[in-house]
Amino acid sequence: MGYVDEVLDLVSKKNADQPEFLQAVTEVLNSLRPVVEANEEVYRKNAILERITEPDRVIMFRVPWVDDKGQVQVNRGFRVQFNNAIGPYKGGLRLHPSVNLGIIKFLGFEQIFKNSLTSLPIGGGKGGSDFNPKGKSDREIMAFCQSFMTELCKYIGADVDVPAGDIGTGAREIGYMFGQYKRIRGMFEGVLTGKGLSYGGSLARTEATGYGLLYITEELMKCHGESMQGKTCVVSGAGNVAIYAIQKAQQMGAKVVTCSDSTGWIYDSEGIDVALLKEIKEVKRARLTEYAAARKSAEYHEGRGVWSIKCDIALPCATQNELLLEDAKTLVANGCKAVCEGANMPTTLEATEYLQNNGVLFICGKASNAGGVATSALEMSQNSERLSWTFEEVDAKLKNIMVNIYHNIDDAAKQYGMEGNYVAGANIAGFQKVVDAMLAHGVC
Ligand code: NDP
Repeated sequence: MGYVDEVLDLVSKKNADQPEFLQAVTEVLNSLRPVVEANEEVYRKNAILERITEPDRVIMFRVPWVDDKGQVQVNRGFRVQFNNAIGPYKGGLRLHPSVNLGIIKFLGFEQIFKNSLTSLPIGGGKGGSDFNPKGKSDREIMAFCQSFMTELCKYIGADVDVPAGDIGTGAREIGYMFGQYKRIRGMFEGVLTGKGLSYGGSLARTEATGYGLLYITEELMKCHGESMQGKTCVVSGAGNVAIYAIQKAQQMGAKVVTCSDSTGWIYDSEGIDVALLKEIKEVKRARLTEYAAARKSAEYHEGRGVWSIKCDIALPCATQNELLLEDAKTLVANGCKAVCEGANMPTTLEATEYLQNNGVLFICGKASNAGGVATSALEMSQNSERLSWTFEEVDAKLKNIMVNIYHNIDDAAKQYGMEGNYVAGANIAGFQKVVDAMLAHGVC
């Protein structure tokens, strides 16, 4: 049995109850086969694959908090510090009832390669809780965030581990967590990113993941003789990534006709009205039925269905495993040219293979949504030098990073004879830098 298969076997046995983590490891290791085969002796001797698939540490803790009725509630908190070979751990905090150890490990594992691809000095980590922020009062959110940080603050720091937002963790939650860290540790430092502008946040961080997704999509199209102008896009999600992806796509001259949340989706033949969507999702925190009620050209549908709409470009921006094989078949049948992931692992393995085998240009999330973490690293730089850069400065750096990521993953795929396979290119380019550092550090 080859080294990759041996390690896949080992990881499957050790983590049988973590399907999302196994899915991510399987995708990454399979696409690394040519690199591993070319360096098998060194990697095997140094147990590189066994080490890179085992987190440095997993922290799990109780999060007790008091609800508005005076009842004590208990959630489970997680922080997985996966790999700090190239910099302090960095990755978001997800607050969603579906959160479990396997999901956080999958996200932390992916984060290693994504962070490496940004070319900035950040390692891989991820955290969160099974807390459901939906329907909670501001006071309840604060109570949860303070309790969560009371435990988490023992394990993080500006040069150790710098968490950020993710699903369910936006500016409000980051603010409460930062306040609690400052209070307990007595330190004002860049320990979290995604902070408010009045206390060390970076301009353009809010927009970064969605904008970055469109910068790399534009470069992909350009390198295939196309542009964004006049293209029809379908987007899933209606959160941070989706909103700013829609906004940038429209600024580039594309028409975005869908968005979705966990209960339903919108088809808007006139193109999504971003100002209205922002008002409903960012201000009122309401459902998409309100969007349809306010706009004549919009239809609301229950359940899932954005991939059934004919498009040139599909941008999944909601959550993992939301684009399935049957959706991939529909996209191909409808003439879709490109799928670029805004969310983390939104496309299943079978759907990814189907798209790639049927000529659809496909960029995986660890490359195409890296703009968020890259801008978080730029926030860390600004905090370290105690300066703030202008929106234009940050946005220009973001664009440059995304264009470079495209060319790095394209080159890596070509170097190993897999031209056009951007999944392999992203995994290879991200992996090589981390492995070089791991080898340099010796056995640790
Ligand atoms: P938000 O919480 O702002 O938005 C998530 C959106 O996806 C919401 O519209 C939500 O609907 C929908 N959604 C969440 N879970 C499900 C589900 N199980 N089924 C269907 N829809 C769902 O999160 P973000 O926009 O920040 O994150 C979206 C994705 O992008 C995630 O995969 C995240 O890990 C990834 N990402 C985010 C980055 C960032 O900077 N924010 C950076 C890199 C990746 P509802 O409101 O109904 O729950």
